[in-house]
Amino acid sequence: MSGVALIMHPECLAHETGEWHPEKPERLQAIWDALQAASLPPNVSWLTPAPATVPRILRVHQPRLIDEIRTMAARGGGMIGLDTVVSRRSFDAALIAAGGTIQAVETAWDTPDRRTFALVRPPGHHATPDTAMGFCLFNNVAVATRVLLEEKGARRVAIVDFDVHHGNGTQDAFIDDPRVLFCSLHQFPLYPGTGRAEEIGEGSARGLTVNLPLPPGCGDVAYRAAFDRVVEPVLRRFQPEIIVASAGFDAHWADPLAHMRLSTSGFVELARSLDRLATELCGGRLALSLEGGYDLGALASSVVAVIMALAGETPQDLLGPPPGGALENVDPLLDHVRGLHGL
Ligand SMILES: [Zn+2]
Repeated sequence: MSGVALIMHPECLAHETGEWHPEKPERLQAIWDALQAASLPPNVSWLTPAPATVPRILRVHQPRLIDEIRTMAARGGGMIGLDTVVSRRSFDAALIAAGGTIQAVETAWDTPDRRTFALVRPPGHHATPDTAMGFCLFNNVAVATRVLLEEKGARRVAIVDFDVHHGNGTQDAFIDDPRVLFCSLHQFPLYPGTGRAEEIGEGSARGLTVNLPLPPGCGDVAYRAAFDRVVEPVLRRFQPEIIVASAGFDAHWADPLAHMRLSTSGFVELARSLDRLATELCGGRLALSLEGGYDLGALASSVVAVIMALAGETPQDLLGPPPGGALENVDPLLDHVRGLHGL
């Protein structure tokens, strides 16, 4: 049985966003507390990341953005846009979040029998090469993917983003990069407003951006169908050497920021799918990095359940199925996306 490496660092708690803000340190604290309370099997191990170096952040981001965040933090903090907070230690926390995701992909790359999960914040997938937005400062998954491509010799990386919001920043970073398949499942319409099915990539990467703009209300059955009919076939066609997941848990039915109806068991099924695909296509190389998830109970129990499943255990679903059920049939959308991508 393969193992799971969890990557955590207390500096991620030092990114202080204020009591009112949904992306708060208590999110990670809830995950850590739930992991302490769980009986994790012996094949789950822990790693402590180093901060990402600025040259590595520069593999995705403009120098101006790095300077803006560093300067704002050094002055005691401020806001970028209406929703993205920089506190005194946010620059350091953001470097650790990116460094943790780099460690996750490097560990998965070097030891394919270990799945990895970077339990970090601030999240990353909304941050574009030149703009911090949507609670995200640096794009952790994009930076880590560039490290794989430019330092580890990777030629084909698949990114699967199941956060309920569209990963616009990751899409922007790789929109014309034929080495990266970017596949996003998200509620549409919803923040940030991008991620239409017709956004399919540009130039030599045309067809390598795969967007599944799902209607509100989708539950486990709809997500299962999206994986079966779109995610799995596009990954098989692309033949990645590693799968990197932007693992957001805000599609849970209890989440306050969106309107999807996934259960904890649904997240476990998604993780098992990615695990099977990693085994089938890339020798077991699978790295996850935490994105959103704003109901503390649903977030913590879903993260623990996913880790248990990746470790080969049978997880519990403490919150159960969505009260009132969920939208199950999204075949017209899936047919449309399959048509756009020649599936
Ligand atoms: Zn999100």
